[in-house]
Amino acid sequence: MSGLTSLEDALALLLEGTVPVAEVEQLALEHARGRVLAESVDAAVAVPLDDNSAMDGYALRSVDCAAPLQVTQRIPAGSVGSLVSPGCAARIFTGAPMPPGADCVAMQENCAVEGDTLQVLQAVTAGENVRPRGQDIPEGAGVLPAGRLLGPEDLGVLASVGCAQVAVRRQLRVAILSTGDELVNPGAAELRSGQIYNSNRFTLRGLLEQLGFVVVDQGIVADTPEATAAALEQASSLADCVITTGGVSVGEEDHVRKQVERLGKLELWKLRIKPGKPLAYGRIGGSAFFGLPGNPAAVFVTFMLVVKPWLQARQGAQVEAPLPLQAQADFAIGRAGGRREYLRVRVEVRDGQLVATRHPNQSSGVLSSASWANALAVIPEDTTLQQGDPVTVLLLDQLKR
Ligand code: AMP
Ligand code: MG
Repeated sequence: MSGLTSLEDALALLLEGTVPVAEVEQLALEHARGRVLAESVDAAVAVPLDDNSAMDGYALRSVDCAAPLQVTQRIPAGSVGSLVSPGCAARIFTGAPMPPGADCVAMQENCAVEGDTLQVLQAVTAGENVRPRGQDIPEGAGVLPAGRLLGPEDLGVLASVGCAQVAVRRQLRVAILSTGDELVNPGAAELRSGQIYNSNRFTLRGLLEQLGFVVVDQGIVADTPEATAAALEQASSLADCVITTGGVSVGEEDHVRKQVERLGKLELWKLRIKPGKPLAYGRIGGSAFFGLPGNPAAVFVTFMLVVKPWLQARQGAQVEAPLPLQAQADFAIGRAGGRREYLRVRVEVRDGQLVATRHPNQSSGVLSSASWANALAVIPEDTTLQQGDPVTVLLLDQLKR
């Protein structure tokens, strides 16, 4: 289809020259979840710091393990033992440092003890049941790279090397504008005929907050050139990125595109994807601009496919792309479309095989399809599909991260 840009070309264009936000702040580790590391972190200490016992048992010299041994010391976790001489053993507990002289630990389940005398019932070899110093992270090793989006497990790893503060990039501020004279915010008034509740605002807020961005909610914008221009100007002065919904198509009531061209620059319009054909990208002052379609299911899909990659690049986050999985289509596509289609589907495992079921209504106005779905099925342009054919699916949980 001529005049439409492929998703790949669009992403290449909008990611080209996008540099991570420069400002860096120091944050206490407990407040760093969801933030992006500005600098790599190296291990100041080895983890673990000492060779230590992996078991509750007895630390001894492996060459001694056949003969009866005398238990001469007790080393709970948190304390330090002394030299284990030939013929001796130390009572030891999980995590306690290995005493000098000992080179292995006999599990207590494999030992017979009477008074201070220990008989090891099952031979142990050097290194057995010992966790060596630095086995998790050697001293000085790289722990996490710059650009890491910090998850809970990353915070734990940083804590394990004694990191109390991290340098992270400033959170991006993202302004959202809902255009449309028909829109009413839920709770504001009862709907009159001709009106609809503003759902896009809530979908976008949720997606942005879940991704760790600061939302600047600019409310509902009337369908006039003046109101659109004023709202765009204000939003761009407040945020790193402005996202509008609606008003970006070709009708007389669609003012967004024209006002962006007047105030800034439009670099992209119309993608070869469904839903999401009317999608604009450009700049207003120092802000990026994304004009998403008005239809709510299209907003959900295009945000994840187009806006999120830009936001994460600008935030400096290195994020893995969602894994394309192969499922069996529990539906058919009889008529090939000229645009690549992203269908709202549910995937499940049937007889060991991933199967994708399509929501019966794929209209971009049907938002409940997005709430019902757990994946998007990707149908390449100009393709038909038989029931049972393989189809690529992207899990929503991964797309939203
Ligand atoms: P538009 O591109 O402005 O013509 O909008 C396309 C369709 O999306 C229309 O049916 C609008 O009523 C609907 N729409 C636009 N904005 C919203 C919104 N914020 N929440 C729900 N539906 C919307
Ligand atoms: Mg509109």
